[in-house]
Amino acid sequence: MRRHLSSPGVLQGYTGRAVAVQTIHLADQPNLFGYKRGAKVVRRGADGYADPDWAGVVVDGAWRGNPSGGPYTATYRIKRDRGDYFEAEELALLTRFDTDADLRDEIREKIRTYALPRSMPPARGVDRKEPARQPQEVSTCSACSHQIRPREPGSMEYEYSPGQFRFRFHSRCNAIWREEVRRRLVPPSRL
Ligand SMILES: [Zn+2]
Repeated sequence: MRRHLSSPGVLQGYTGRAVAVQTIHLADQPNLFGYKRGAKVVRRGADGYADPDWAGVVVDGAWRGNPSGGPYTATYRIKRDRGDYFEAEELALLTRFDTDADLRDEIREKIRTYALPRSMPPARGVDRKEPARQPQEVSTCSACSHQIRPREPGSMEYEYSPGQFRFRFHSRCNAIWREEVRRRLVPPSRL
C-alpha cells in the first residue's frame, strides 16, 4: 500500500544507505496509530497506574519513524477534560473506560478477536473448582490493560493451563467478561 507522506525527510546514514524518517499526522494515516482521533485516554503516572488528573480526548497525533520498519514514536495532542491541552507518547497512554458500555465494547471485541477466552477455565482437582485466585502482585488487566493493584478487592486471575494464571481482571472487568461468556453460552433466539 502506498502511503501518503505529509512531511517526508531523508537522512543519509553513515553506511551510505538512505534512511527515510518521516513524520506522519494522525489525520493522514490513522492506521499507524494505536489511538484514533476522539479516543478517550488517560496518561499513566510514574507508578504505572492511570492518573485521572491527565484524562482527555485525542485531537491530533504525530508518528515519526521509517514506515518500512523499525522503531517509531507516536505523540498525541490531547484535550484535557478541564479544557487545556497536553502531549503524551503512545506508551504513556491508556484507554479510558468511563462507562460499562465502553468497557463491554472492548471486552466483546477482545472475545471476538480471541484476545480474551470465550469460556471459563475447565474445573480441576477433587473439588472440581474453577481454577481462579486473587492476584497477589501488580499485574495488567486482560480486559482494560490498566494495572491491577495487588490484592485489589474483587480482582481475579484464571488458570487455563496448569501453573499459568494468564488472564487477570479488575472486579468490574471480571464481572462484565463473565457476563459476556455466559451470554455466549445461551443460544440466540430463533423467534
Ligand atoms: Zn480491567
